[in-house]
Amino acid sequence: MNVSDSEVVASILARDGYTPVNSAEEADLVLLNTCSIREKAEYTVLQRINEMNNLKARNKGLKVGVLGCMAERMREDLLEKKKVVDLVVGPDAYRTLPELLEKVGTGQKAVNVLLSREETYGEIEPVRLGTNGVTAFVTIMRGCDNMCAFCVVPFTRGRERSRDATSIVRECEQLVRDGYREVTLLGQNVDSYKWRPVQSAENGIVDFADLLEMVAVACPTLRIRYSTSHPKDMTDKVLAVMARYDNICKYIHLPVQSGSSEVLKRMNRGYDRVWYLERIASIRRHMPDCAISTDIIAGYCGETEADHQETLSLMEEVGYDMAFMFKYSERPKTLAARKYPDDVPEEEKGRRLAEIIELQKRKSAERTAGYVGQIHEVLIEGVSKRSNDHLYGRNSQNNVVIVARQVVGGKTNAEGSRSLKPGDFVRVRITSATAGSLQGEVLDVLNHQPALA
Ligand code: SAH
Ligand code: SF4
Repeated sequence: MNVSDSEVVASILARDGYTPVNSAEEADLVLLNTCSIREKAEYTVLQRINEMNNLKARNKGLKVGVLGCMAERMREDLLEKKKVVDLVVGPDAYRTLPELLEKVGTGQKAVNVLLSREETYGEIEPVRLGTNGVTAFVTIMRGCDNMCAFCVVPFTRGRERSRDATSIVRECEQLVRDGYREVTLLGQNVDSYKWRPVQSAENGIVDFADLLEMVAVACPTLRIRYSTSHPKDMTDKVLAVMARYDNICKYIHLPVQSGSSEVLKRMNRGYDRVWYLERIASIRRHMPDCAISTDIIAGYCGETEADHQETLSLMEEVGYDMAFMFKYSERPKTLAARKYPDDVPEEEKGRRLAEIIELQKRKSAERTAGYVGQIHEVLIEGVSKRSNDHLYGRNSQNNVVIVARQVVGGKTNAEGSRSLKPGDFVRVRITSATAGSLQGEVLDVLNHQPALA
């Protein structure tokens, strides 16, 4: 999400004559796009801000700005306590960057952290940053209205608003023209995407399932992913659309947070364990080959050992392909911070998290081992970190797959080359697996992703 926001910022600044450079050392302006989700994320940013002092000592003209959630959350603090910061801009105020920079240019500090109910940066065509030329992100909505008790997002990123569906489709079509092969549609809760075409009240509302289908049909050669689904809102209509189109990846990120209904209630998540497991069953009914990943929080307020055991048993039952796992970190202003004591001792949080991570490692390894011998379609993204002779890509289920760069036999790619390159679609027989990745042997080079099931 922050990558996608940075690309919008780069586009706004490009109109003002700025161009991206490769390192902070070469820059006249450094903008740190920040996250407040956990204290650790903020700590990392504060360290980065301190590092800027050295850069400024070497380059007196350098200006430093803080963007995103921390800007919104810590505005005065940042400007007063961190002298190195010239500019503080919240996630809905990026259009005002040119004026703010003008003010900074006269030696003043500048700040705009106003949140908006309308801003979606809908028509702004992002400048792709640090891109591999193959995969890209497109933001479909901003903010969040859910008020999960632990979460700072509704305070830092404001109310939920959906972007104009036609501008989303247009951006995806442009990606295809620019040679991209995969898009990830982004929102905090994509299942509550809602957009009403202005001209045609009779056409009714475009929901997420409709949007997904619009993109799948408009861009048949583009692979489509999305994130994040919310268990309380994920509909069978979305699952049916996913099942219908081969160019929509069979992968769902469905954060559970906890396996205990009691804890889920205190988290204000809007579902219980039974409901969540029913959603998992529905995914499996619609798409038996769909991979599922999750987010889990260990040691939330009032979490007992029995609650923790319920999280482990749910993980055992679902068998996630992958999980992001966190210790609970109290965030200012949230309902949990106001209402519930952060009462699970740090050490206990650590122990529970370690158990969760250990179990997930085993489950990931089981899932990937099950893929050995299967044939998967893989989109090549880049050169493997370990070896120049190998490339990596992803299958539909979002596993990293490593293959040899040279294809053997008479196979060639679209350009007639025997050497694979990023952007190639290949059919791969999976030959071995670790918990983190798969290795495979290329059977065919496809010219593009097949479009319809
Ligand atoms: N919108 C997404 C997730 C946004 S934040 C959703 O609703 O699922 C990403 C993840 O960070 C969350 O799913 C949660 O697991 C974690 N997280 C959020 N706030 C947290 C906190 N205060 N402490 C620990 N983890 C947190
Ligand atoms: Fe935070 Fe919940 Fe919104 Fe996700 S759905 S961003 S966890 S409030």
